[in-house]
Amino acid sequence: MGDKIHIHRSSHDRVWLPTLNGLLEPHPFCRSCGAVKNISSDKAHGLGYFINVLAEIKRHLDYKGGKLSQAQIRLIIKELESREDFADTYVMLGSVQRNIFINVVQKYTGLSRSFVESFL
Ligand SMILES: [Zn+2]
Repeated sequence: MGDKIHIHRSSHDRVWLPTLNGLLEPHPFCRSCGAVKNISSDKAHGLGYFINVLAEIKRHLDYKGGKLSQAQIRLIIKELESREDFADTYVMLGSVQRNIFINVVQKYTGLSRSFVESFL
């Protein structure tokens, strides 16, 4: 995992870009790849957070009768790892990341969007 994601190192220079509320603000950017840092409060999580969420969902379902297998969890994690920006907390927005997670979980399980969302 993560061979496409290096450790971003912020430039000293800033680039002025609109934030989510449309105001121009100075953003740091990575001096090796040029990725612009997300400076909003809509922060993304690392992959470990979502692995924990999947474990919590599994515990909950096991208690209720068990509908999430280890094989499904492995497929979900594999797909999340294959998306190069998913766990890139430097650039990724939390809301976009949650949406990707829910879509991937739904692809491999029959779980509803609101059910998955309730664990995030
Ligand atoms: Zn970079």
